[in-house]
Amino acid sequence: MIRIECPVCGQRPETEFTYGGDATVRRPEMTNEDPQAWIEYVFMRGNPRGWHREYWHHVQGCRQWIVLERNTLSHEIGQAELARDAARAWSRTSEAAE
Ligand SMILES: [Zn+2]
Repeated sequence: MIRIECPVCGQRPETEFTYGGDATVRRPEMTNEDPQAWIEYVFMRGNPRGWHREYWHHVQGCRQWIVLERNTLSHEIGQAELARDAARAWSRTSEAAE
């Protein structure tokens, strides 16, 4: 059984979580009218081999969304952080790039 380190609850079994999708995908700006950008965002996903950042929801625990690093080959679990903290870090790097 995979055990996931929740930043709030500590190490918990995977069965308490639900998978929430690829955490590397960024939604286009709402003013973006390019249909291809929205097709990419909604439908197109990679099938990564190795380490990957994913959203997981701790449904049977603190109910927080977390961003988890997971190796898709070995199912090894890496760093985990609250999704809200990851979003803040993402917005800071996006602002710095502008
Ligand atoms: Zn938790």
